[in-house]
Amino acid sequence: MVGGDILKIDVLVELKAKGINQTFTYLVPDIIMDKIKIGIRVLVPFGNLKLEGFVIGFNYNDVDYKLKSIIDIIDNEPILTKEMLELGKYISNKTLCNLISAYQTMLPRALKAKNGFNVNKKYVTYLKLLDNNYIPKNDKQKDIIDILKKNDAAKSTLVSISSSSVKTLLDKNIIMEVKREVYRINNDDIKEECKIILNSDQERVVKRVLECRNQFKPFLLHGVTGSGKTEVYMHIIDEIIKDNKEVIVLVPEISLTPQFVNIFKKRFGNMIAILHSGLNDGEKYDEWRKIINGEVKIAIGARSCVFAPLTNIGMIIIDEEHTDTYKQENNPRYNAIDIALRRAKTYNCPIILGSATPSIESYTRAKSNIYELLILNKRVNNTMPLVKLVDMKNEIRKGNTIFSSLLKESINKCLMSNEQVIILLNRRGYSTVITCKDCGYTIKCPNCDIPLTYHKSGNKLNCHYCDYITYKPNECPNCHSKNFSNLGMGTEKLEEEVKKEFKCKVIRMDIDTTSRKGSHERIINDFKNKKYDILIGTQMISKGLDFDDVTLVGVINGDASLNIPDFRSSERTFALLNQVAGRSGRSKKEGKVIIQGFNLDHYSIVMASKHDYIGFYNEEMNIRRLLKYPPYFNLTLIKISGLKYDDIYNESHKIFNYLKTNIKQSILLGPSNCNIPKINNKYYMQIIIKYKNTNLIMDSLRFINDKYRKDNKVNVDIDINPKNL
Ligand code: ADP
Ligand code: ZN
Ligand code: ZN
Repeated sequence: MVGGDILKIDVLVELKAKGINQTFTYLVPDIIMDKIKIGIRVLVPFGNLKLEGFVIGFNYNDVDYKLKSIIDIIDNEPILTKEMLELGKYISNKTLCNLISAYQTMLPRALKAKNGFNVNKKYVTYLKLLDNNYIPKNDKQKDIIDILKKNDAAKSTLVSISSSSVKTLLDKNIIMEVKREVYRINNDDIKEECKIILNSDQERVVKRVLECRNQFKPFLLHGVTGSGKTEVYMHIIDEIIKDNKEVIVLVPEISLTPQFVNIFKKRFGNMIAILHSGLNDGEKYDEWRKIINGEVKIAIGARSCVFAPLTNIGMIIIDEEHTDTYKQENNPRYNAIDIALRRAKTYNCPIILGSATPSIESYTRAKSNIYELLILNKRVNNTMPLVKLVDMKNEIRKGNTIFSSLLKESINKCLMSNEQVIILLNRRGYSTVITCKDCGYTIKCPNCDIPLTYHKSGNKLNCHYCDYITYKPNECPNCHSKNFSNLGMGTEKLEEEVKKEFKCKVIRMDIDTTSRKGSHERIINDFKNKKYDILIGTQMISKGLDFDDVTLVGVINGDASLNIPDFRSSERTFALLNQVAGRSGRSKKEGKVIIQGFNLDHYSIVMASKHDYIGFYNEEMNIRRLLKYPPYFNLTLIKISGLKYDDIYNESHKIFNYLKTNIKQSILLGPSNCNIPKINNKYYMQIIIKYKNTNLIMDSLRFINDKYRKDNKVNVDIDINPKNL
């Protein structure tokens, strides 16, 4: 054998030290040479360590230093397909993350390149008939043999007939044991025929999408709550899988309720793999294997399901496309919608982004024909719920601090006619924002139109976008009330108040009551089965739930989310109110919605009460244009953190000056303290860049990212198109 025949491979490994983002070349011992494929994991020596890494290529260059050999292979078949290897490079490029982090994020935990972690495969012992001519010696034996004549059966079932007979038959070699690897989750047997006939609007949407089934084509499906979007998706999926192609369906994590999942299971049975955070590592690994082994045609799941290793994709569906959680909030900061668009392009297939309240960015793309707009503007039952706004300033004067007279009356009416009520309290209102208790006024930044945050030290109000500072006034600048402090009531307190006020059964759904596995499901089922009259909750209850008997939705502090210091808070408020209103009157009975608050003439609330998305969109776009926010400008957020304030202060200013000299045609804000300037003894500052063309700033961002990668005093984190500021 000549020297050139020695096989060298490039292996990407993960080292905790952040600086490492490179591949290392290894030799392959002759005996496993045939087993090396690009995309498998191998075990390699690295200093004194043994590490797992991904084989990402063969290396044909001559090297003048001594190479080490790999120790062994881990996978027989690639766990990263060619498409995934490319996709990882794209993510690394677009989000400035290490290539290895990109690959790791695409895989379930059991398949990441890690050490000391193993998922046990699950086996079940089956019994198999060996001697077909055996004549049973008693009834029990006969029962067992009869079953096995038809098919192999699980040992546990046959043992329950008679364990001694099973033992005898085994001893005599009439039957034998076989171990089979099984999936932990099985969706067999529950398939039901679809009985729903689409209405003409739904029909039109399905037809249009299917016309484009063989080309890359992004659609924005704007369909009001209850317009039957889910039904539309399922009809489209049906057609695509008849064609022997595959479908990815992304839904927000909180929509992955058993209710939602069961609808799909009933329709598609064992054709689906479901990936969500409620599964343990073994279950996730099994669902992943079903996909890799080509046993399923549909992958349904939250954000990371966009990486489902399907290889013949014919359609991608993203439900509730406006949801923030499609963007990953930690490294790698990828947006699942971008990835989905890219995969749809790769497979030349359509992609549907669906929502009742499309994100401002998506709707703008639809208006400029980047996406094709499809509309469902009527509910299946043809009635939208009636929305009433109740100003709590007047109610407080009457002594109603929590429930307005109207809400009280309406709840009592519902309870009397045996109907159900949902009450939403979005308690995410930051207490660091100062609001007038009498008139609802909040002091905002004159430059950025977002609420100023209160800093106790120095009694100051501060804008965390642009660093504008002012003293906190002692009275409300609007109504001169001295009651100028922060609002605050959580769901737990509300539950107490509801129980005091109304004679009925109440259940609460929020992070605290749903932390245990299965509790989310239990609350929903109990409420659906009418064990409770009133469901109280945070935004968790606003999505996807479909209860026939809910005819009233009450919203407490409907304007509280406007006080979150983020330029998207109007958009989120509109979406939240729209979603929660959509829970009322979904079936035969007419629905009603009552929104209480202090600041109800804000356009996001007025438009939500009229179910007017376009009206909201137009108002919001005016503000976005005036204040240079997306979609008119792109944003990048640079966060600088560290243990010493002086360090982050100095480095923040260095970065700011570097950006100032190096990127033209952009607006730089900061450096300013973050909204929460100190967490866990670490200080945080930020710089915001507003710009038109991403390509013009990428080189500078990459330079900063590389420069601070190895810095041990400050940490610099770059978020391109952030969802939260
Ligand atoms: P969305 O996802 O737009 O909020 P869904 O798809 O959940 O709406 O539909 C709302 C309700 O209407 C569901 O209970 C669904 O089963 C029902 N539905 C949808 N389409 C039809 C139809 N064509 N005929 C009868 N009922 C339908
Ligand atoms: Zn006031
Ligand atoms: Zn400002």
